[in-house]
Parts: sequence; C-alpha cells; structure tokens
Amino acid sequence: AAAAEELENPMKPPVDVKLTKLLIDGEFVDAASGKTFPTIDPRSEHVIAEVAEGDVEDINRAVRAARKAFDHGPWPKMPAHKRGEILLRYADLLDQHADELAALETMDSGKPYEQARYGEMPLVSRQFRYYAGWADKIYGTTGPTDGSHAMYTLHEPIGVVGQIIPWNFPIVMYCWKVAPALAAGNCIVLKTAEQTPLSAILAGKLALEAGIPPGVLNIVSGYGPTAGAAIVEHMDVDKVAFTGSTEVGKLIMASAARSNLKPVTLELGGKSPMIICEDADVDAAVELAHFALFFNQGQCCCAGSRTFVHERIYDEFVEKSKARALKRVVGDPFRSGVEQGPQVDKEQFHKVLSYIESGRDQGANLLTGGGRLGSKGYYIKPTIFTDVKEGMKIFDEEIFGPVQSIAKFKTLDEVVQRANNTVYGLAAGIFSNNLNTVNTLSRALRAGTIWVNCFDVFDATIPFGGFKQSGIGREKGKYALDNYTQVKAVVTPIHNAAW
Ligand code: ADP
Repeated sequence: AAAAEELENPMKPPVDVKLTKLLIDGEFVDAASGKTFPTIDPRSEHVIAEVAEGDVEDINRAVRAARKAFDHGPWPKMPAHKRGEILLRYADLLDQHADELAALETMDSGKPYEQARYGEMPLVSRQFRYYAGWADKIYGTTGPTDGSHAMYTLHEPIGVVGQIIPWNFPIVMYCWKVAPALAAGNCIVLKTAEQTPLSAILAGKLALEAGIPPGVLNIVSGYGPTAGAAIVEHMDVDKVAFTGSTEVGKLIMASAARSNLKPVTLELGGKSPMIICEDADVDAAVELAHFALFFNQGQCCCAGSRTFVHERIYDEFVEKSKARALKRVVGDPFRSGVEQGPQVDKEQFHKVLSYIESGRDQGANLLTGGGRLGSKGYYIKPTIFTDVKEGMKIFDEEIFGPVQSIAKFKTLDEVVQRANNTVYGLAAGIFSNNLNTVNTLSRALRAGTIWVNCFDVFDATIPFGGFKQSGIGREKGKYALDNYTQVKAVVTPIHNAAW
C-alpha cells in the first residue's frame, strides 16, 4: 500500500470541468430552481464543481422534450440504418474524447485512470457500435395463423424511456442504458448519480455533435428522491430502467406500478460467490479472487464478495491472498500503476468502515487491512477476513468496498447450498479445470452470470442481470433490445384461403 504522505497531495486534476448543466431538448440549461449541488473529488474531499440540480420541474421539461421528439421528431421514424450510422459516429466521438471522459470519471469517482481509460472507455464505444449494428436488424416474426388470417409482428420502440444510473461505473452504465434504447428508436430522460454527474454531461454534448436530434437524449443531474422519483412517477414516461440498490429498486417498482404501470428493468445488488475448487492452481486462483473482489475499490454490484475455498488448499490460499492484498497499490488514481483509489464518497467510506467493525465484532478473523489509509481522501486499506460464516453481516450483506471474506468448504453439495443461500443472484465465479465440477456448478448456481476461470468480463454481447432480488431483465446482448421494444401483432384476412 502507498505511503500515507503521498495521499496528502493529490495531483491537480488534469482536466477542466466545462460542462455542468442539464441537457434538455438539445440545450444546456440551468435547473428551473436555479439550484446547484457540489460534486466532490474523493481524493482530496474538495469540491470539483457546482452542478445544476435537476428536480421535478426539470424532469417535467425533459419528459415534454422527449415526448415531442418521439411523437413528432425524426428519431423513431427515420430509416433504422440511419440511426445506426449516427450511433457509429457517436462511438467515434466517444473514442476521440476518451482521455477527457476517463479523466472526468477518475476525478469524480476515484477509480484508477488507467482502468477508466483503457479498461472502460473501450467498452463504451464498443457498446454503441454493437447496438448501431442492431438498429436495422430488429426483426418481427410471422407464424402459421389459422389459415384464414395472416399475421406478422412489428417490434416498435416503447416511447419515452426513463433511465436512472449509479456512481460505480458512471460512463459504462450510461452506455449500457442509452445505446440499446436509442438503437431501437426510443427517446430518453436519463438521471445520473449525484456523486458522479460529470462524464455523462460531456457524453451528452458529443451525442448532439454526432447528430442525435434535440430531445432524443435528455440528461438530468440531481438526487434520487427528487429528480429520480419524478422520472419513475411520471405519467408520460413509458418505461423505466434502473441500476442501483435493491432497496431503491423495490421503491421504483412500486412507484412505477402506482403511477401508470410502466414496465421496469432493474439491475440491483449482489453478494456473489467466488468458488475456488480443489484442483485449482492456487497462485492463479488467488489472483482471480483478488481481482473479483477488489476491482473498482470493491464497488461492483457483481463483486465476488464471498470467496469459498476448498479445505485442501485453504491455508495456502489464505496466506497468499494476504501477501497479494499487502502488495495492492493504493493511491492517487491518476498515478500510473495505482490499482485502487479512494471510495466514491464520505457516506460509502463510513459504511465500509462500519462493516469492517462489524466483522471484528462478530468474530471473523481480520487477516490484513482493517481501516482507513492516510488522513485525507476516502482511502481504505485492502482488507481480508477469514473464517467468515453465514450470519455475519460481512458475509450476508453487500459491503461495496475493498473487504474480502474468505470461507472454507468441503464438498460441492455444501458449496452449492451455501453459495445459493442469499437473497441475491447476480453473478458467480468458478475456478476449476475439472469439466464435471464446472458443469455441475454452472447449472446449480442461481445467478445471471457464471464466470468460469475469469471474472468481470463485460463485452457488449454478454447479457447481464440478476436472478432473485438482484433484478429483472438483462442488459447488453440481444436481450437488452427486449427492454426497449414493444411487440405489435398485425393481422389481416386472407380472402382466398384455398390458394
Ligand atoms: P447506492 O446505494 O449505490 O448509492 P442507490 O440505489 O441509492 O444506490 O442509487 C442509485 C441511483 O438511484 C442514483 O442515481 C440515485 O440518485 C437514484 N435514486 C436513489 N433513490 C431514488 C428514488 N427514491 N427514486 C429514484 N431514484 C433514486
């Protein structure tokens, strides 16, 4: 871990923040109330910029703009390949501005710049290219209707789509939501997370430059219970897609039902098992399990946050995991080689520290780490608990921080039962080269993604979403188009059925 004094002098942000307003109807505007809120640099705890604070009136304006763009604008009606061409241009612009977008992302969220620039930005443009390709390949079907009628289906855009995204992967969550919705011809009102509004505002400007017409993509910064809730309750929003906590996901589904019964897709919390089997190469397994948990400061809904290790290799695995955590490079996320920056904000920082306290109190064995790093910025030492058991909060609840919990298992039946013993079902990791073990676990685990000998692979083709209370629906891949299209059956009589 980096020396504390290095954390006292965070590098000057390498990028000026030029855009802080709401994007409504193709214009950058202040909030109707004139209010702003500060977005904080988690390295220094200083204000980066004051950002326009959207609220109900701004959401109303944005929904009106999106409705007009959907009902009267060219977007849903233009030849589908033209939409695809605009999205391809957009992907090129996102690539051209990748340095600046990644710098904004790092400054706002604290994630390592190299991760944002070289790990995430390629996913962003790839996502737009992938759905640009789908734009003119969204087919309906036909079927053998009763003989006296012909039938075909149209897959039409849903209309005005509300999208609410979290702070852990701001620009990646933006593209997961926006790309399939636009490809299918919808118009959007998107709310960013209050912790990380900056990258999406620049992405919105680039969308206009790419030729996405005014009103098609509206981006509102602001808080959840105000601007977010206004989207979900709005009677003229036809669908809502949300990524965030299970707690808020439940509020959203209830509010969507109470208002106009808009359909919802939800991508929520997780407590994913990472299962290290008896045959594992221990060094490789340690590295993968470390990545599965510590990636992005542990702030991943799919984090491998319950590490189950077979008893035969448990002791060696634990010892080597400790050495790996001690080697983890924590520091200013703009510095090259840094693997872990600060947690996103003060609230998350204190929440993670209180989970660490509860691990100690409930009798888990603190192997390494266990507290704050330095005295400024929201840095937390890479932390590992061993002998962690069901019933301990750190094993049952989502921590969303750099805290690995390692548990021992004996048999496959046992580990399947324990891995599935959670209200969540977002992802699971398996580390084994034994085909029978892999096949057995892949089918038995109740989770939306099974990563075998890998973790956190997020290509645009791979559907992502949860079983159980981890959510409803799938993002990415062909499946995401279902979230943003309606099926219409067109039926017509055949007058001379004999032919
Ligand atoms: P986290 O706990 O990770 O911050 P949240 O679920 O609170 O996750 O937040 C995810 C997103 O949901 C953010 O954009 C936040 O502003 C928004 N949000 C929070 N509460 C509500 C709400 N009641 N209605 C709509 N959106 C909300």
